[in-house]
Amino acid sequence: MEPSFLQLTDSVWVFPCHPDPQKLQPNVGIIISGSDTVLVDGGNSPRHARRILDALDELNAPPVRYVIYTHSHFDHFFGAQLFSVPAIAHELCRQRVQEMAAKPWSFSYIEDEIKDSPERAIGLRNIARVMDEWRGFRIIVPSVTFTAGLQLYLNGGLLLEIEHVGGQHSPDSSVVRVPEQGVMFVADAYYPPTADYRQPGDTMDYDLIARLMQDETIQQVVDGHSATPLSRDTLLALLDKRGDGG
Ligand SMILES: [Zn+2]
Repeated sequence: MEPSFLQLTDSVWVFPCHPDPQKLQPNVGIIISGSDTVLVDGGNSPRHARRILDALDELNAPPVRYVIYTHSHFDHFFGAQLFSVPAIAHELCRQRVQEMAAKPWSFSYIEDEIKDSPERAIGLRNIARVMDEWRGFRIIVPSVTFTAGLQLYLNGGLLLEIEHVGGQHSPDSSVVRVPEQGVMFVADAYYPPTADYRQPGDTMDYDLIARLMQDETIQQVVDGHSATPLSRDTLLALLDKRGDGG
């Protein structure tokens, strides 16, 4: 059987995004050092998180200690309850997740919300599509927060650097670097705004990509919804093409 995860370096794996974009299952980072596993994002639903747990079993990964939320879009954290650990996020992300946690989530609540705010229909329907049921569902509100950034040392000594970058996709976006391994998780930070908020002419956030690439130690970048990690060269080529209207 094909392994369900992708190994990037000695300590870094990815549980890859679902090939069908309709499933909205983003890439989830798995970082292991000593007796600690840290996840970058927590899956879009309990169903997605169960698949991630199976992959962790397959990997013989040590227990998960933290889930880091890259931003407050549901597809990055609605599965987090399955890991039963504290979540780490930017302060604004925590506020937004807390607001979402206060809602009476159900399929009929979503229908009512769409009637009240039709401009949010695409995002709300996405949630309804990937959730099997709401019984027992719980949103994990981050209990460890930061404003500019946070350094997290894993049990085996590996350093993770979390940095708030904001941007047009979501102002609470953060990236996670594993400097020693040349890997950076950026989730959706450089993407255009989500469908409900997108304007004609919106593009990738090339300025942000350029800023992120200034860190020359980074060789592999994992974003939220690309099928494979992107090499430094791929991203630099993207910046070069920008002048051609790309
Ligand atoms: Zn997003």
